Formats: sequence, C-alpha cells, structure tokens
Amino acid sequence: MRLLEAIVAANNAAAGRPSRLDVRAYANSLPLAALTCIDPRLNRLFPGALGLGDEDFIWLRNAGNVITSPTSSTVRSLAMSLYLKDCKEIAVIGHTDCRMAKVGVNDLLDRMQAQGISRGTLPIPNLHEFFGLFSSEKPNVLKAVGFLRTSPVIPHETPIHGLLIDSASGRLEWVINGYEAGGMPLETHGAPEELPHVATYTVGPVKSLGIHVEPLAARERPKPPEPPPPPPPPPAKRIRGRNG
Ligand SMILES: [Zn+2]
Repeated sequence: MRLLEAIVAANNAAAGRPSRLDVRAYANSLPLAALTCIDPRLNRLFPGALGLGDEDFIWLRNAGNVITSPTSSTVRSLAMSLYLKDCKEIAVIGHTDCRMAKVGVNDLLDRMQAQGISRGTLPIPNLHEFFGLFSSEKPNVLKAVGFLRTSPVIPHETPIHGLLIDSASGRLEWVINGYEAGGMPLETHGAPEELPHVATYTVGPVKSLGIHVEPLAARERPKPPEPPPPPPPPPAKRIRGRNG
C-alpha cells in the first residue's frame, strides 16, 4: 500500500481517529504537503486524522482550499514545499460543511458593504472568481487537483490526491487517488486553453464519482478577454506633386 492509501485505510478503520502511522515504510514519500481550508474545526483534526506527526506534515491553508490557476500563490507555495522541503506528494483536502460552499457573491457584497466596502470601489471584475466561491466541496477539490496537474511548476510525476474530511469525525474520503491518475494528465476533452475548467479536464473522474459539475463549470467559466481595440487609422499622407 502506498502512503495515501495507507493513510486513508488506517483513518477509515479507526473512524477518523487513527493511531500514528509507522512511517518507516513511507520515509521516501514524506513529508506530505496538504492544502486545506481555514475552517477552525480543522485545527484539531490535522495532522492526527492522517496518522502523521507534525514533522511529516506541511500544512497550507486558504479559504475553501481553493486553487485559482496553475500558477497561483498557493501553487507557488506547494511547489516550494516540493523543491525546498522534499515533499513528494500533494493532497488537497476539502471538508464537509464548508462555509465557502454556502456563500454567494451578493451575500458577500452585503457583508463587505456592512464593513464600509462598496462594490464600486473594487478593481475586481469577477468577484466570484476572485474569492474562489464554489457550490460543492468535491468538485472544488477536483478543480484544485486539476490546476495542480496542469501547473508548469509541479513535476509531472508528483502524485496529487484529492480528499474530503468529515469536519466532525475526521473521517477521510477519497475524491481522487493521485496514484491511479498515474501522473498522467487527466482526461481532456477540449483545447489546451480550456484546461482550467472542471468540465473539460475532469469529466472522467467526476462522472465516476457521480458528481454533477456542469452548472459549476458553466458558472465559473471566465469571460474571454476583450479583443484589443483596432489601431487608429494612419494619418492621411499628403502627396505632393502632380496635384499640388
Ligand atoms: Zn471550509
């Protein structure tokens, strides 16, 4: 059994509260780099739910365990955990009952307005995209894994796993097994420029998990960039000669 498979098996066998993993068999796969949400309920779950000690766990957190692009700041930190801290595998671990999956842009705008920030002052065209809002935890994990897989700064052979943890019990559930993806690009159904969209590059795994992602993907698809304005017409040449 490989590292993450052993972690999930031990976690499930102990209903979310495994004893410490004997890491000697997995020394070459540790430490594990993991991205989770900022939810404080997770403070008491990690790294215990993984059966790992602090020294074998590099923990990155952001609101909603969101990755917004293959070269985002979070991807930068995960890449540095590979290059500088000798991590060999990455796990994106969403959690049940994530607040980020429940908030909409209008709700967020109301909360910002209540704190003195009005929409008109924000130099951000797409707030949904900027805040990484999503409607369901599992597709959000798959989207993050997809961005990591297509990232130019993450080595191609790095296993990138997707998991969901129960916020109350600590029980782990597979979303996508990074070993089974084999370091190969996930199934693609579109042009390369369409890769950063859930519906394009995770159709196979998402369908196999029974997750419906079309509305999310359609909603999160960014607008194409505006075409550049046409160049101004050249100044009319004055032709001297025959006509004066
Ligand atoms: Zn959350």
